Amino acid sequence: MSLIVQKFGGSSVANAQRVFHVAETVINTYKQGNDVVVVVSAQGDTTDELIAKANEINPHASKREMDVLLTAGEQMSASLLAMAIEKLGCPVVSLLGWQAGFITSTAYGSARIHRVEPDRIRKELDKKHIVVVTGFQGIDRYDDVTTLGRGGSDTSAVAIAAAMHADLCQIYTDVEGVYTADPRKVKNARKLSVISYDEMLELASLGAQVLNNRSVELAKKYGIQLEVLSSMTDKPGTIVREASKVEEMLISGVAKDDDVARISIIGVPDRPGLAFKIFTKLSAKNINVDIILQSVGRNGTKDISFTVARSNLQDTMDLLNPFVEMIGANSVVYDDHVAKVSIVGAGMESHPGVASTMFESLFDANINIQMISTSEIKISVLIDEDDADRAVSVIHRKFFDAQ
Ligand code: ADP
Ligand code: ASP
Ligand code: MG
Repeated sequence: MSLIVQKFGGSSVANAQRVFHVAETVINTYKQGNDVVVVVSAQGDTTDELIAKANEINPHASKREMDVLLTAGEQMSASLLAMAIEKLGCPVVSLLGWQAGFITSTAYGSARIHRVEPDRIRKELDKKHIVVVTGFQGIDRYDDVTTLGRGGSDTSAVAIAAAMHADLCQIYTDVEGVYTADPRKVKNARKLSVISYDEMLELASLGAQVLNNRSVELAKKYGIQLEVLSSMTDKPGTIVREASKVEEMLISGVAKDDDVARISIIGVPDRPGLAFKIFTKLSAKNINVDIILQSVGRNGTKDISFTVARSNLQDTMDLLNPFVEMIGANSVVYDDHVAKVSIVGAGMESHPGVASTMFESLFDANINIQMISTSEIKISVLIDEDDADRAVSVIHRKFFDAQ
C-alpha cells in the first residue's frame, strides 16, 4: 500500500462531467489499495472571476479580504469533488487549508508555507477516507486564511507529499506532460519523458506555467519525484526528478514570459555607488529586478536598464521618478510592451554555440534583441512583445526540428 498525492488543476475540475471523471481516477487509485490525498484548484476560471467580482466592489481591496474571497474557489471544488466521490460510493472527506494543517506566513496573496501539520489528514486516512484538500490556501499565525499566489495549488500538493512522505505526487493537468514549448502555441512541441528539477525550475520561473516554480523548488528540496500528466487521457506523463547525466539534453525547452516591463534610467552620472543606491531602493520595497544592463560610461554618464514584473511597474516608476533627479540622472523611461523568451537546458553548459544558434534564429526572423541574460543552464532575451510567439516558434524549430 502506498500514499499517493494527486493534484487536479482548474480545467480538470471545470464542470460536473470533469469532476466525475476526476472522481473515477481517484477512486481507481484508492481501490488499488492506496491511501489517497487529493489536492484541487478552483474550477475553470473561478479565481479570475472572483478577482473580477472584487474589482467591481473595490479595486483597492485589502489583500486580507482578497484572500478570504479567493479561498472560496477551492472550497467549492473540494466539496463538489467530495460529493462526486460520495455519489460513486466511496468514503471521502474534504478539508480546507487550515483543517489540513497548512501553516503559512502572513503575506496575504503570496504566503509561504511554513509547515504542514497533517494530523487530521492522517486520522482521516486511518479511517479509510479519501481526503480531498483545497489547494492554494492556508492559515497564518493570526488565524487568518491566506493564499499562496497564482498557480499555488501545485505547491500545496508537493508540500503535503513532503510532510507525509508520500510515495508519489501526481500533478494532473490539461496537457499530457511537460513539453519542449507550450503545446498550445507550438505545434511541434514534444513531450519530455523526464526533466531534471533544475531545468524544470528554470522553465517554470521563465514562464512555462505547467508547474508553479515554488512547487518545483520544494520538490527538489525534499526529493519528491513529480509526475505531470493529463487528467483527460491515460498516457504516461513527464517525470520531474534529480538529473541524470546520461539523459542530459542540450536544450529541454523554450519558454515565454510576458509579465515583464523594462525600465531605463538615462544619463546616470558615471561614478561609484549609484547602481547600489538604485537597487537598494527597489529591494527595500520588495521589488524583484530581473535582467540588468548597464552601458559603458561615455561623457561622464551611463544608462542603466532592468526589468521588473508588470505588476511592479507603477511602484517602480513612483519610486524612481523623484530619485532620478536627486542622483543627477536625466530621466527614467519604461516600456511594458516587451516579453522575455528563454531557452533552458543542462547540456548548454558543456556545449559552446548554443547562444549563437539562438541569436541566429532570431536574426533569420528579423527579431531585434533588446537585452540578454544567461546562466549555466539558460539564456534569456528581451524582445518586443509582438514578436514573442514567433520568436518561441523559430527558436524551437532551430533546436528541435533538426534533432
Ligand atoms: P492547471 O490548471 O492544471 O494548473 P495550468 O493552466 O496552470 O494548468 O498549466 C497548464 C498549461 O501550461 C497548459 O495548458 C499549457 O498551455 C501551459 N504550458 C506552458 N508551457 C508549457 C510546457 N512547456 N509544457 C506543457 N504545458 C505548458
Ligand atoms: N486557483 C488558483 C489560481 O487560479 C490556484 C491554482 O489554480 O493553482 O491561481
Ligand atoms: Mg497551474
